[in-house]
Amino acid sequence: MIKPLVVSAVRQETPEVKTFLFDAPELPYQAGQYLTLVHPHNDEVRRSYSISSAPGLGEPLAMTVKRVANGLFSRYLVDTIHPGDTLRTIGAGGFFTLPDNVAKEADQMFFFAAGNGITPIYALLKSLLHQHPSLHAVLIYSNRTPEHTIFYQELQHLASQFADRLKVEFLFSNHPVLARARLYRDLLESFVKQYLVTTPARTLAYLCGPLNYMRMCVYGLREIGIPLANIRRENFNPETALPVADEPSDTDPHGVTVRLLHHTYQFQTQYPITILQAAKKQGIALPYSCGNGVCGSCVLRCTAGQVWMSTNDVLTHRDLAKGLILTCTGYPMGGDVQLEL
Ligand SMILES: Cc1cc2nc3c(=O)[nH]c(=O)nc-3n(C[C@H](O)[C@H](O)[C@H](O)COP(=O)(O)OP(=O)(O)OC[C@H]3O[C@@H](n4cnc5c(N)ncnc54)[C@H](O)[C@@H]3O)c2cc1C
Repeated sequence: MIKPLVVSAVRQETPEVKTFLFDAPELPYQAGQYLTLVHPHNDEVRRSYSISSAPGLGEPLAMTVKRVANGLFSRYLVDTIHPGDTLRTIGAGGFFTLPDNVAKEADQMFFFAAGNGITPIYALLKSLLHQHPSLHAVLIYSNRTPEHTIFYQELQHLASQFADRLKVEFLFSNHPVLARARLYRDLLESFVKQYLVTTPARTLAYLCGPLNYMRMCVYGLREIGIPLANIRRENFNPETALPVADEPSDTDPHGVTVRLLHHTYQFQTQYPITILQAAKKQGIALPYSCGNGVCGSCVLRCTAGQVWMSTNDVLTHRDLAKGLILTCTGYPMGGDVQLEL
């Protein structure tokens, strides 16, 4: 369901980036999640923006947006939205969150952010430091210059406030010493070895930045022995998602039953029409945003049957084991399926 969201304040963070604050105490979310916004004149145009506030700290809900040259939605937000304006949202979603029992699983978390990838990581970091006192954190944060660094002062403040538990390394690509300019594998490994206070198995790593940056981080972290299952990524660029396979082995038509809050819907679909596309054709409003298997807005739980996904850049093995599936890249396979919110 699309809900109104009133902007209470707008803060300029860097020349290209603004934070939008909302008076929305009733909107539930977790640190690390994003808001999915719907275009004012076209319900089909949707974009996700990570939430930079953390719940439970008395902060207003906030999202931080970078203006993309020629970008449709980011320019609408950064150039035209002012306090008092109303945006439209389907609410918060996403899986780039702390595990339910984070202190049982880990002693330390490494965060790797580049540019506006800091947005969800800033929320996670605040949540961890204020609400999980046993955990240590390290942030490695890459930017062009200090002036382009979102939350630069706030992060320095956090680093001094939590000096015994948080280490922050800022990297600037305009730095005259090349070895301190960009993050590369050896530098990443030396940071991790320098700051690691526990075993790799009890270390979690959260990454958000360009695809090549995150790929390099994953290789470096794996090299040090951090298990793949301990590494989480948030991809801001749905078009970069890689398909897992070309075609499902079963392309026959199958029935889909979807149980939403108060309604049950039934319809048929057949590859290459995704479950989401088939639902839309029937006028059924399932949640979604990127349409490309990246953001996780469209996630449902499969309670019977099997769903094959052409792309899944967001659900982990653990999520899949719980029966979670993406409708935007999902097709019923081997028979009918039952899904629920
Ligand atoms: C989970 C998630 C979280 C995110 N969190 C954030 C966040 O916290 N902050 C943030 O700033 N962003 C975030 N994003 C990215 C955000 O959702 C948008 O993708 C981003 O703002 C660009 O949207 P846009 O409408 O401005 O640009 P678009 O209109 O989608 O365009 C994007 C780029 O494609 C180019 N382009 C568009 N149309 C064409 C065309 N026809 N031919 C060639 N090129 C074209 C544009 O020039 C532009 O460079 C997130 C994305 C995801 C998936």
